[in-house]
Amino acid sequence: MNLIAFNANIRPIINFVTNFVAMDYPRVILKPGKEVPVLRFHPWIFSGAIASVSENLQDGAIVEVFGSNGKYLASGHFQDSSIAVKILTFERQPIDRQFWYKQVRKAYSLREGLNLVSNPDTNCYRLVHNEGDGMPGLIVDVYDSVAVLQAHSAGMYQARQDLAEAVMQIYGGKLSGIYDKSSESLFKNTGLRVQNGWLTGGSSDVIAAEHGCKFVVDIEGGQKTGFFLDQRENRKKAGLYARGRKVLNMFSYTGGFSVYALKSGAELVHSVDSSAPACKLAEKNAAINGFGGDRHLVFATDARQYLETMKQGEYDMIILDPPAFAKNTSSRHNAIRGYTSLNASAMKKIAAGGILFTFSCSQVVSREQFNAAVAAAAIESGRSVRVLEQLGQSGDHPINIFQPEGEYLKGLVLRVD
Ligand code: SAH
Repeated sequence: MNLIAFNANIRPIINFVTNFVAMDYPRVILKPGKEVPVLRFHPWIFSGAIASVSENLQDGAIVEVFGSNGKYLASGHFQDSSIAVKILTFERQPIDRQFWYKQVRKAYSLREGLNLVSNPDTNCYRLVHNEGDGMPGLIVDVYDSVAVLQAHSAGMYQARQDLAEAVMQIYGGKLSGIYDKSSESLFKNTGLRVQNGWLTGGSSDVIAAEHGCKFVVDIEGGQKTGFFLDQRENRKKAGLYARGRKVLNMFSYTGGFSVYALKSGAELVHSVDSSAPACKLAEKNAAINGFGGDRHLVFATDARQYLETMKQGEYDMIILDPPAFAKNTSSRHNAIRGYTSLNASAMKKIAAGGILFTFSCSQVVSREQFNAAVAAAAIESGRSVRVLEQLGQSGDHPINIFQPEGEYLKGLVLRVD
């Protein structure tokens, strides 16, 4: 019997047996009919779907989820919030050190397949991306020899030592340390207050390489885990368009897009960001790549103010990569209006024949909604606008096909005449 046929035959038996093997995990019982999304492998259980839970259930507990008919459905992390369970597995099994090792190993081999591991041109990438890697609530980013772990749920925070151990084991000496940067993400999602710190090792002086560009990454003091790795392929693409252009990199953070534009021969690059420390690093990053002086200027100021006061036609390429305008569904409407007005301002000012790279990283704003917001901006600007390319997050930020919400980064390359 071949392995696939063997699996197909044995799986129902395993499921049947494990359904009756008692595990020591607290239970969550769903209301009738609420098992449907779980059977379709959606990895979230909303609080409204739950009929009852075991007594004294704590945030972060590993729970087993059962249908109203008593059938085992999934196991995951519990949290007393609107998403009550984030599912880790649909197969009944212990969630222990071995489980975490297996999951992280799978994530690692996906990155190997993307040629991100042991690549001298690009030594920074996302190793673990939430639901996309079957580990909802967890991010692990690698910058050269340092990993940054960020828990977004109490359950993942509690598992951090096992996770760190798994990561160290898989890299076998190639990593010098793992920094836990959960304080902000955990507080935002759970209200828990924790300190950031090194789980193992410790050296935060990191110079990351991305497509041969070098970036100083401030993992302790910088935003998120230190760098926005999801834009890697889009930065490369922007570099291709930037040759000979006058580029405005709006929301430039530490100068990611700017360095690529300078490297590929942009006439000038202006980086704008409201964060003074980010602007300092943008200057430094341009310098360590060999671009100082007048070709690159950095402005620590508010984006809207800058767009209002800049001259019409001053730039023939503009990049708009703002922070998420909508953090939840209640702010979605205002966010969409925000995208329209921001894009309209840029479209009005860009030179004829200009290239506009525009992004939204709001999870709750869909691609269709973002495209519609940008179309409204085109109407408001009165310019002729064409879509050249549609962009998304890089492959090390995989999207679980059963959780379309995981496609959070949307982008367009536009030609504005
Ligand atoms: N494009 C960047 C990432 C941008 S993240 C890269 O490739 O690395 C969003 C940035 O917007 C952050 O650096 C943040 O400091 C900046 N920001 C937030 N609000 C702003 C505002 N009102 N004006 C200018 N910058 C702002």
